[in-house]
Amino acid sequence: GFDTRALQALDSAHYLHPFTDHGALRERGARVMVRGDGVYLWDSEGRKLIDGMSGLWCVNVGYGRASMTAAVARQMDTLPFYNSFFNTTNVPAVMLAAQLVQHAPPGFRHVFFTGSGSEANDTIVRMVWRYWQIMGQPQRQAIISRHNAYHGSTVAGASLGGMAGMHAQGALPIPGIHHIGQPSFAEHGRGMSEAEFGLRAAGWLEEKILELGPENVAAFIGEPVQGAGGVIIPPPTYWPEIQRICDKYGVLLVSDEVICGFGRLGTWFGCQLMGARPDLIAFAKGVSSGYVPLGGVLVGARVAHALVEKGGDFNHGFTYSGHPVACAAALENLRIMVDEGLVERVALETGPHLKAAFGSLATHPLVGHAESMGMTAGLNLVRRKAASMHDCEAFPPGLGVGMVCRAHMFDNGVIMRAVGDRMIVAPPLVMTTAQIDEMVERIRFCLDLTLEDVAQ
Ligand code: PLP
Repeated sequence: GFDTRALQALDSAHYLHPFTDHGALRERGARVMVRGDGVYLWDSEGRKLIDGMSGLWCVNVGYGRASMTAAVARQMDTLPFYNSFFNTTNVPAVMLAAQLVQHAPPGFRHVFFTGSGSEANDTIVRMVWRYWQIMGQPQRQAIISRHNAYHGSTVAGASLGGMAGMHAQGALPIPGIHHIGQPSFAEHGRGMSEAEFGLRAAGWLEEKILELGPENVAAFIGEPVQGAGGVIIPPPTYWPEIQRICDKYGVLLVSDEVICGFGRLGTWFGCQLMGARPDLIAFAKGVSSGYVPLGGVLVGARVAHALVEKGGDFNHGFTYSGHPVACAAALENLRIMVDEGLVERVALETGPHLKAAFGSLATHPLVGHAESMGMTAGLNLVRRKAASMHDCEAFPPGLGVGMVCRAHMFDNGVIMRAVGDRMIVAPPLVMTTAQIDEMVERIRFCLDLTLEDVAQ
């Protein structure tokens, strides 16, 4: 057994958590997770939870995989660490690079490894700037991203990100990073068809490029489907138009696939579903299912040619670039994904099942609209429903209905995330259709509890 109170006391005395209000944490006490198996987690009080969030969008093959443990232990025994600076390499890193490009879109033959998604995006910023320097256009330094995006917590990652709450806490974004609106039909699409809105939202990129001067613009970065921003699924017209605009002005296209990569949307990479052909892909999370930290950048032909054939040294890298234990974990993770056909399962079976199940929640009196793509889904809690999502009446922001709902979920054994009053899931890709039904029935029950609270 665990002494939850003692652990909580030590936690609040010594442990500074990411993205946490420590005053509130001290009052309530941290939830202590102690074990995982498949799609389930157990906390220190013995509560069993179905993990609707794959940890933090990452435990794609589920918890407690003995073959992952074995692969990691084997590599720790053989060679726990070596670096890949200065002309050295290691076996798992080489094998992983060669396998990753097999799953990447056509034209990707090179990988740069990092320890996380934030480092992957930092690497991309430096790589993009170096690319344009090699190409004799060093003035191309502007990078365009989107409001409400999340691209990490390092200085460059948080600058690329468009979360106002992060920028407000000091001196961000760094110079050269610009933001356009996010392609949220619910938020910005009133009076338009979805298709029209997709073209309109992509048009904001062209307007920004022209405002900055196309000769100054280095790259555009976006997630195929925005994750932490609230599972914002763009209209089908959006990405092809973004691609056309990037092509027109020679701007590099970067797809942040830290969440969408490795099967989340039913394809190996989200851009493959969206009709975009990025030059660079950031990945992390699902590459190793979070068992050991790993991230990286898939480098397409255009940038690889400049870096490899013309660039000389690229003065950039991390101690843990190509960490052999992380790469061994990723190799086993990929083996599981391929052997169990997880990507196809999301596309053909579990993704459509989640869509139908979430669709059934849309009739709930508290739900304005619900949508889903692959193994991720979101729904909006509203005060008053309407036939069109644009006519639903939202709750006053201060009410914190999303947080109330999230607490009910936890108390009733399901982990779901609240982004304001939008409730989202991204379950492990191994979740079965029966487990999806179990999760959605618990969600429905907690929506009822939340409705009772707000009715009072
Ligand atoms: N990019 C996206 C789209 C993410 O969702 C995240 C993390 O949630 C990151 C980057 C940052 O990754 P990390 O937390 O591994 O640094």
